Amino acid sequence: MCGIVGYVGRAHATPILLDGLRRLEYRGYDSAGLAVINGGKLDTRKCAGRIAALAKLVRKQPVAGSLGISHTRWATHGKVNDENAHPHFDASGKLALVHNGVIENYQSLKDELVRDGDTTFRSDTDTEVLAHLIGKLYDDSCASTVDVAGKKTRLFEAVCTALRQVIGTYGIALVHADVPDFMVGARRGSPLVLGVGNGENFLASDVSAIVAYTRDAVYLNDFDMVAAGPDKFEISSLAGDITEHPVSKVEFTAEDIGKGDYPHYMLKEIFEQPNTVRDAMRGRLNPEECTAKLGGLNMAPPQLRDVGRIVLTGCGTALHAARVGEYLIERLANIPTEVDYASEFRHRNTPMTPETLVFAISQSGETADTLGALRESRRKGFRTLGICNNA
Ligand code: GLU
Repeated sequence: MCGIVGYVGRAHATPILLDGLRRLEYRGYDSAGLAVINGGKLDTRKCAGRIAALAKLVRKQPVAGSLGISHTRWATHGKVNDENAHPHFDASGKLALVHNGVIENYQSLKDELVRDGDTTFRSDTDTEVLAHLIGKLYDDSCASTVDVAGKKTRLFEAVCTALRQVIGTYGIALVHADVPDFMVGARRGSPLVLGVGNGENFLASDVSAIVAYTRDAVYLNDFDMVAAGPDKFEISSLAGDITEHPVSKVEFTAEDIGKGDYPHYMLKEIFEQPNTVRDAMRGRLNPEECTAKLGGLNMAPPQLRDVGRIVLTGCGTALHAARVGEYLIERLANIPTEVDYASEFRHRNTPMTPETLVFAISQSGETADTLGALRESRRKGFRTLGICNNA
């Protein structure tokens, strides 16, 4: 799962959409694309490869408009090629959708659309099926003439109806050529944040994509839907209830998360380690009493003393960090500790003992297998905690 950026406002959308993608670039991706609505028409550029290749396409053929969405893809369904890059479109070509995640029942949804006569699929992705489904529901509901306000409502309803049929995970952003100042987002299992600006609003899979433009953010929860125009937004649940969400102030700046003078993010992270460790402990060590209060653990000393076994689970770099943690915990606390790959932990029957404490570790807090392991661990009744780098 990779990056999403959306913009609705009065500025030129393309530079914001490209800039947002660049700020998510460190997460890795295989293709990039964007779609902008201008004069009631959808204009798109997308390609396999780097954001620089997309930027080159845009330089050759500029895309104007102040409503748009962009995406970096990490392929799960279909090869890495231009056709499979996002955005994807509905059968009418007027709706554009970007998606992070996996639509698990895409094949049965697609079969049904094909049975109803839809023969216009252009990619192999699960995402395109969702675009076609929303587009069909919207077109059917707009069969009679409807004004622009009515079209917005119907588009939003079409997204809700389609998502209720989806099994799987998604963070999505979409626009439709019929409604030139309106963007819809939704999430389930894939993160999505709304950036609230002055006369403009943003969507992003991570706040770092938009923090250069606004520090006011609303972190959406699973099953939240958002409809945004330049001057207002409304958040509701997939079940249809309007929900109030606090607007949070983002505390870091765009510079904090840039590459600085380093050629790569990895090098920057390596050199930042001493400071990162110092920052993580700052204000939490109590040398007078030779103790520490690390927030988040929320366990009283007697509860800590009851821990007889620790399981650390994660994937990739988080798994390596867990391996270091295993040695440290055993050395310092003398508690038997084991490390398990999150993708394995989910599926095997780890013996359960009441004194076991499970830590799920994920840098982003989004790693699907680690979240799966965390849920499975809770379901089995283990005491379960999560560690991530991301508020
Ligand atoms: N499943 C979608 C695809 O393969 C989205 C992948 C992603 O999260 O980037 O295109």
